[in-house]
Amino acid sequence: MLETSLLGLRSGCVSVNSWRTAPGRQIPPGLANETMAQCQFKKRKGENCRANARIGKTLCVFHDPDKAGDVQRARRAGGISRNRRAVVLPPETPDFPLRNSREVSDLLGISANLVLRGQLDPRIATAVGYLTNIQLRALEQGPAQERMAKIEAALEAIEKQKKGS
Ligand SMILES: [Zn+2]
Repeated sequence: MLETSLLGLRSGCVSVNSWRTAPGRQIPPGLANETMAQCQFKKRKGENCRANARIGKTLCVFHDPDKAGDVQRARRAGGISRNRRAVVLPPETPDFPLRNSREVSDLLGISANLVLRGQLDPRIATAVGYLTNIQLRALEQGPAQERMAKIEAALEAIEKQKKGS
């Protein structure tokens, strides 16, 4: 009910009265006896609020004091993700070392649990996932590069032996 009113207002205050009088429009039986008046609220510049008044009332959902709480809650719910500061761990949290895949895996487990408890912003956890993925690849590359260096040294030694004999 409230969501419908909010949507109506966002999409440019489509008045129910103009909707009713549109050519070929059938009025649903439930609405036939309801009269939808314009909200009587006067804005600061003296113009009327363009939203429809609540059924049987003279004010819309935004200006009816009875509905003020609902509107505030809906606004808060809608704006919460934009205005809320990211939930992060406190600055004194010790470093997670991430020296091996085990330690990386530990951090991922902790992050997941913090997100599930609402103690870490999912966006931060996404960043953790991205960075740990890079760290895992770096950890894999280290040993691989060492092995490659050993193989190259061994090949060089073989070449030298060949030349010497
Ligand atoms: Zn109004």
